[in-house]
Amino acid sequence: MKKMSLPTVSDYCLLEKIGTGSYATVYKAFKKDKSREIVAIKCVDKGTLSKSAIDNLLTEIKLLNVLKHEHIVEMKDFFWDEGNIYIVMEYCDGGDLSSFIKRKHKLPENICRRFLQQLALALRYLRDHNVCHMDLKPQNLLLMRKPQLVLKVGDFGFAQYLSNSEHKFAIRGSPLYMAPEMLLKHKYDARVDLWSVGVIMYECLFGKAPYSSSSFQELAEKIKDCRPIEIPKAAHVSMTCKDLLMALLKHNPSDRITYDEFFAHDFLDLEHAPAKENYDKAAALVHKAVEADADKNAKEAFYLYCEALRYFIPILINENDLKRKEILRHRVNDYIRRAETLKVAFRDDNDEKHPSSENKGNTSHLQRTPSLERSSAFAYNELRCLSKSTSGMTDALEIGEAAEQYLAEGSYALALEKFQSCLGILVSLLGKEPLGRRRDLLHKQVQIWMKEAESTKGLLATKDIDSSPRTTDEQCILQ
Ligand code: ADP
Ligand code: MG
Repeated sequence: MKKMSLPTVSDYCLLEKIGTGSYATVYKAFKKDKSREIVAIKCVDKGTLSKSAIDNLLTEIKLLNVLKHEHIVEMKDFFWDEGNIYIVMEYCDGGDLSSFIKRKHKLPENICRRFLQQLALALRYLRDHNVCHMDLKPQNLLLMRKPQLVLKVGDFGFAQYLSNSEHKFAIRGSPLYMAPEMLLKHKYDARVDLWSVGVIMYECLFGKAPYSSSSFQELAEKIKDCRPIEIPKAAHVSMTCKDLLMALLKHNPSDRITYDEFFAHDFLDLEHAPAKENYDKAAALVHKAVEADADKNAKEAFYLYCEALRYFIPILINENDLKRKEILRHRVNDYIRRAETLKVAFRDDNDEKHPSSENKGNTSHLQRTPSLERSSAFAYNELRCLSKSTSGMTDALEIGEAAEQYLAEGSYALALEKFQSCLGILVSLLGKEPLGRRRDLLHKQVQIWMKEAESTKGLLATKDIDSSPRTTDEQCILQ
């Protein structure tokens, strides 16, 4: 790249110091040209640079030059003079995640999810480029406040290209966030970043690191002992949240969640993360729901509305424009109401499925129910009879019935829990089930309940709307 004159630090007006890290000082600055662009400049005093510090800096510069991603801090330029080396970056006006957590003490699960989703997107991109960060910690995760809260991974000073999957490096990074295998100087690889994500997640949820210690000695001790990770007693964490946290914080990297499992984890729910293309998906689902509704296919319309809600709700919560937010809120409320009305159709279906409750022999009721629904109720009753010969199957079906009951009553969290536990059992039974009538019935029922579990997630997400802010003010966003 040829330029008329090389950039120097005198092209910028340095403002206040915004941070210091392990080897650099970072200033807010603006460009002394018409643009007056605000930037952050990372300055490293050449006098203090050891050979390895120079290597780190060169790695950082080289990497940031090629890594371009919404959730990775962008490098705009770099240059040096007699005294310093400078990296010019986009300025992140929300500071770093560490001071953010300190201000809020701890973060609610849905905010934690939002940050983790953004971190995961950056990590997925890094994986695709064979890069391992090796120093993930809240101080190195920067926040952009406008137009909405965006997280960006920064400080690639310790990052590494991983050509082969196993490697032995020098010790790098901060011990508090460092994976046990790295701290204990075993062989390690890209999975160390996942441990750090676990520590970051823990700190978001509970305001402190899982092995917070007053000395390095104490920390090393706790890690060496494989001290179990404790969740603060007073804390409320959902099942999926805890599941992810514990899967990330596995001492042995081969027990730890893999990257693919992490990206696919239910708590992260990357598939439904707020994004432009997900808005289009949601709108298309509503379109189909309205059609199914018009065709009197209540069940299908219900599933479709619920799936649309799973996309719409994160977008609604994330929307910062007040006008657009209000409009979307109204639309979403309409969809919720329609889904809940349609859900009543399940109620009727359930009554019929368990003739003991009521409607025994009530033909007028049967006539009101579409034939498809009726045949599925008969199929269920047949499955119920056939299940008696296998221990555990009847119990699992009963849990599924309880789940449907909770869903009907609007107890979505309980419904989801029951669906998940009954499906856990039934899916494993299905794996062992020999071909035949019972297998077909079981397979069909598992599919029905999977769909209902997914729908429950859509309805469950609606409770996040109330806790979401009505203004753009950050104080309100995360109270
Ligand atoms: P080091 O490599 O010395 O740790 P970092 O790149 O992590 O340096 O920067 C140190 C601190 O400066 C960060 O923890 C953060 O608080 C602040 N900082 C760094 N880059 C930016 C940026 N682009 N925008 C805003 N603050 C930043
Ligand atoms: Mg740093």
